[in-house]
Amino acid sequence: MKYYNLKDKQETVDFKTASIKSQGRQKGLFFPESIPKFEEEFIRNLHLYSDEEIAFRCMTDFIGDEIPLDVLKQIAAETVSFDIPLKKISDQISVLELFHGPTLAFKDVGARFMSRCLSYFLKDQHKKVTVLVATSGDTGGAVAHGFYNVPGINVVILYPKNKVSPVQEKQLTALGGNISALEVNGNFDDCQNLVKQSFSDEDINSEVFLTSANSINIARWLPQQIYYLLALKQWKLQENSDPVICVPSGNFGNICAGLLAYFRGLPAEHFIAACNENDVVPDYLKSNQYHPKKAVATLSNAMDVGDPSNFTRILELFAHQFETLNNMISGYSIDDESTLQTIKTVYEKYGYILDPHSAVAFASLDEYLHENPGKKGFILGTAHPVKFPEAVEKATHINIEVPEALEDLMKKEKKTVEINADFEELKRFLLNKNHEQ
Ligand SMILES: *Cc1c(COP(=O)(O)O)cnc(C)c1O
Repeated sequence: MKYYNLKDKQETVDFKTASIKSQGRQKGLFFPESIPKFEEEFIRNLHLYSDEEIAFRCMTDFIGDEIPLDVLKQIAAETVSFDIPLKKISDQISVLELFHGPTLAFKDVGARFMSRCLSYFLKDQHKKVTVLVATSGDTGGAVAHGFYNVPGINVVILYPKNKVSPVQEKQLTALGGNISALEVNGNFDDCQNLVKQSFSDEDINSEVFLTSANSINIARWLPQQIYYLLALKQWKLQENSDPVICVPSGNFGNICAGLLAYFRGLPAEHFIAACNENDVVPDYLKSNQYHPKKAVATLSNAMDVGDPSNFTRILELFAHQFETLNNMISGYSIDDESTLQTIKTVYEKYGYILDPHSAVAFASLDEYLHENPGKKGFILGTAHPVKFPEAVEKATHINIEVPEALEDLMKKEKKTVEINADFEELKRFLLNKNHEQ
């Protein structure tokens, strides 16, 4: 499979290059040259396949012979090596729980797949590779765990001091080994700018082999299709109709992967883009006008994005046909007050605890199903409620039980290097780190 740059269609690369480079010229995103269809038999008989087999079959066409099949099989198995159950909340609404991985967020799946692909591609590289990533919270943890102890790779994570939750901070800082955490005196934008500067700095790039692990990387984006197949496998054992699929969305990578699976032949009745107050896409769906906005802070902080990177991939999938796109996707914007109210109501009525991101999805799907009676659907549960204890306790007045794995983590020591939002400090750190090896 070849991938072309959405900003410069002359630039085409293979899977390996796209996953190492992350972006093409002019910071363009890569997109597959063709959309391979699922075999009908595969979709009809999903329940007969193991999760590992589904993950493997989902990905093979995108990788071709760039990774040997036995290695890819192993990567696929490690990508879905934890439970991803579809649970019924109410008669109409189910939830695909994507938060049983090591960092309790759905980003684990993409990060695990990407880290293992990079490790395969770079195994004959003599220089060590440094994965540089800025995080506002969830991405860093998933990337750190995905790359933890992967040979030949160092990970350097930049996060804003005092601006991530205690659980998130431990996930970034307690691993040690090949993972370094830099606590930046600044905000997330400062971290992101420092990363961007590093990628364009000649001194750093002549000495250090830098790569990025952000969500626009195809090796993180494409494996997210697997969620939808695993959901459907379970859905078909419970329901007769095709599902309405509701995705809590920020940078729109997840929903875009679901739509890609739909174009490949995954049955779905409709898609819903569930947003918090950052409502660029719901606005676009109403008006056919795309106006990026400055992100505002909300309870569902992983979705505080004002100009979602993957929106351009969605346009490409629909060949820029607004009517078709608008018939297939609905957008909702849910404010913090409704988010808390939803957590409370769902807990009282059904005894199910939603995290704020999943609550945005529940409220959106609930609204859609009221407007479109007779249908049923599922939401993607993207984070474990224990990662956002304040919101959940405020809404439900209960203390959430901390999973065992997390208790151990919280006892570990935080190890960080503090830096100012000053490029020279980061540069010194990266160059010294490189000399240590
Ligand atoms: C990253 C994230 C999202 C948003 O996913 P996108 O692919 O960026 O749309 C939603 N919920 C949680 C918990 C996340 O960490």
